[in-house]
Order: sequence, then structure tokens, then C-alpha cells
Amino acid sequence: MRDRPGASEAGVTIDLIVGSESPKEACGLFGVWAPHEEVARLTFFGLFSLQHRGQESAGMAVSDGEQILVYRDLGLVSQVFHERTLATLQGDLCIGHTRYSTTGSTTWDNAQPAFKTHGTKGLAIGHNGNLVNTAELAEEVGRRGPATTDSDLVATLLARHLDDGLEAAGLRVLPRLSGAFCFVMMDERTVFAARDPHGIRPLSLGRLPGGGICVASETCALDVVGAQFIRDVEPGELVSIDERGIRSLRFAESPRPALCLFEFVYLSRADSRMFGRSVHEVRREMGRRLAAEAPVDADMVIPVPDTGNSAAQGFAQAAGIPYGEGLMKNRYIGRTFIEPSPALRQRGVKLKLNPLPDAIRGKRLVVVDDSIVRGTTTRQIVQVLRESGARQVHLRIVSPPIRWPCFYGIDMSTRGELIAAGSGVEEIRGFVGADSLAYLSLDGLVSATEAPASAFCRACFDGQYPVPVGESEPSKFALERL
Ligand code: SF4
Repeated sequence: MRDRPGASEAGVTIDLIVGSESPKEACGLFGVWAPHEEVARLTFFGLFSLQHRGQESAGMAVSDGEQILVYRDLGLVSQVFHERTLATLQGDLCIGHTRYSTTGSTTWDNAQPAFKTHGTKGLAIGHNGNLVNTAELAEEVGRRGPATTDSDLVATLLARHLDDGLEAAGLRVLPRLSGAFCFVMMDERTVFAARDPHGIRPLSLGRLPGGGICVASETCALDVVGAQFIRDVEPGELVSIDERGIRSLRFAESPRPALCLFEFVYLSRADSRMFGRSVHEVRREMGRRLAAEAPVDADMVIPVPDTGNSAAQGFAQAAGIPYGEGLMKNRYIGRTFIEPSPALRQRGVKLKLNPLPDAIRGKRLVVVDDSIVRGTTTRQIVQVLRESGARQVHLRIVSPPIRWPCFYGIDMSTRGELIAAGSGVEEIRGFVGADSLAYLSLDGLVSATEAPASAFCRACFDGQYPVPVGESEPSKFALERL
């Protein structure tokens, strides 16, 4: 009940800090084909830069041309892999995965890459996204193993068609999948990359200085390993990468591209590029547009770090109000497996965000954040700022109200938990306790990207789902109940 408007105030300050209601990403992917290079080390650094897309588990599969070796575990990339581990992962090609679970629990069996064999052939696969025809696929696959992810179902289906190779298996299985998916896959010799016909989640190709080819969920991972961006994997495309170069096959026509608009708002790293534009620049423009749409008289603009930083800079610039820091984020928290004890919670252990009272005291603040999901964290932020001496707190949100759940791989609550699904802006303002609250319009958000609205999935804002999703709310544990 604490998530609903009017719920008890008890423990507010503490929850801010340990809990998080931010939308969660569904995974980061990296793949590389580069004989004569340390492919596992390259994959480690690629995954390390995609850590924000999933912090529950990490894994890699590597092949020397003869045999696939898989290593995966629960934890952050830097917790799972060490020098000793990397030294055992030698080969010419490698794929890697960081996971945030949107289907299936956080267990070792659900960590990826998933690995399957068929006779003497093997395949490994990592998935970013969420399928919406999982129940149908599960019925076909039948027997259930310990893994309970849609990704494992796809791996099983691919393995059943592996007689003619993974490329042929992909061309048979991928057209039958519905929903959001980017895959990196490999057999013993070739890396594959595939993107759903709407291209809901991003996936880019890059070239290493020595001629090797990389694929990554975001361009920041290409930058980190020194690869030059080549192009995005196209919606409906299956790309094969090996000594013959990059080959492109189409497994489905694209009805229309529908990149997740939330990638620009929150999910992607600010130093990544999408549609040829820096995410940082787009966020700054979002802030500028919000300043024009919802001006306010104030002394200082502060971001809710880190995703609010770029937009807050843009807001401050356009509004002519000084930009400052009012909340400090622990950048290293990631996913901690050690929760504070109730006693520490009572003392207000501020694991995630800590206010800077000297910077805040007596000021009329504009607080720029990326989104409001349930409203509880926002309310706690407002309360902490007031306790630290803020005279006024004006919230400016650089996305429209989230009224619809995501079925495509972003874990952002069910419809009943989304505060904007049942409350208007003034009601939400009252709940979070701000002096004023304004959201960026959908037109303003789309215009900031300089791409047409038709290029995006915007379903969590307008309820128009590009891939039909049926009646039921998303459940990440669906395969555990079957
Ligand atoms: S519903 Fe929202 S979060 Fe989900 S893919 Fe579409 S735009 Fe992204």
C-alpha cells in the first residue's frame, strides 16, 4: 500500500534511498568476432560499459572455432569476471550479456548467454527485450528445464533446427517470435546479431582497428573497445559475422520501425548515439523544450542524478537559471546483494542519493528528473530536499506521464502501480508534495530527438502498442507458473 497516494509517511526518507522505482532495463548485449584479439577481454569491457542495462547477472560464451565455452554468474560484470576467468576464455569469437530480469527470476539458470547443443553442434544466445508470445512458444517447447526465460525457449527452438546451421535455424525461428528482441548468438565459428521487425531495442555494429567486428546494444560499448560505428542492425535483419565478413539476411519485413522512445529518456547512456544523435544532446534539448513549455521562477536547477543531468543543463540554459548539484548519487552502488538491516534503515542509510544541504538551503529549486513511475521515490526526493532547507521544490519531468505498462522488456510496474494511470498532474503533485509539477509533452519529447513520431514505440505514454500484446498484464514469472 505504500506505493499509492495517501499511503503512510512512515519510513519515507529511508526508502528513498534504498529503494528505486526507476524503470529497469532488460539487458545489455555485446558480441565480437576478432581472431588474434583477446575477445573475452574486449567483451568484458563492452559489458562493463553496458552495466546500466542489467545488473543481476553477467556472462560470456567464447569459441576457438571448435568448442563453445560459457561462463556466467549472478552479480555485476566486475564481480563475475576476474583476470583468472578471462585467461581461460580464449578464442576467436565471443558474445556477452548483462541481465535485468523481465522474464524469469534472478537465478543462475536464468543467467545468459543460454547454451544448447544438438548432436555435436552448439549454440549460445543472449537476449535483450521481451517476447509477447511466450506462452505459445512454451507450449510448443513443452518440457521445461531449470531456466524460466523466454530467451531459453528461443535457444531450445533454435537448437531443434540446428541441423543446417544456426543461420538457417535463425531464419526459421526468428519470424515466429513476437515482441521486442535483439539477439547476439554464436555457433563455434560465427557471431550472429538479430533485431525484431520493429527494432524496439537498439543494436549497433562496429569495426575494430584490426578488422574485427563488434555488435553492441549501445554505441558507448563500441567506443569503449575502440570500434568505429558502422551502422545499426536493421529491424527484421539477421547479420552473420565471420571470416567472410558481414552478411545480411532478412528474416522479416519491418511493418514500421518503433525504437523505444524511453531509450532517449532514461535507458541509454548519455554518451551513446541513436539515429545519429548523441543521447546527451537529445536530453539537453528535452530540458530546453521543457523550460519553454513549463517556465518557473527559481534560484537553481538541479538534476536527479544521473539520468536527469543532461536535461537539467538544458533546462537551466534555456531558463537562464543557474545549474547546480543538490543530490549526490553513489555511482558504485549497482546492485548490492547486501541490504541494510532494519536498524540501519531506521537511521536513514542513504545508499543511493544524499542531499547537499549547504547547496539547497533557502533556495527555490527546479528539480529535473527523467520520469515518474509510481511516485514514491519522487515524493521521498521532494521530502529530503525540503528537510535539507529547500524553500520551494518545482518538479520538471522530461517525459510525459507514464500511463501504460511496457510489455517489451522494460520493467516499470503494472498499470495499477503507475501513478499517472489513475491520477492527473495536480493529484500527482499533491502526492509527491511539490510546489509545482510539469511534464514534457509527447510532441516536445519526440521533437527533441529530431526523428518523426512514427519512428518510435511510445506505448507507455500513449497506449499505442506497435506489437499487439493481448489483454493480460506482463508477468515476469509467467514461465514459472506454467
Ligand atoms: S512501452 Fe515505453 S518503455 Fe516499453 S518499449 Fe515502448 S516506449 Fe519503450
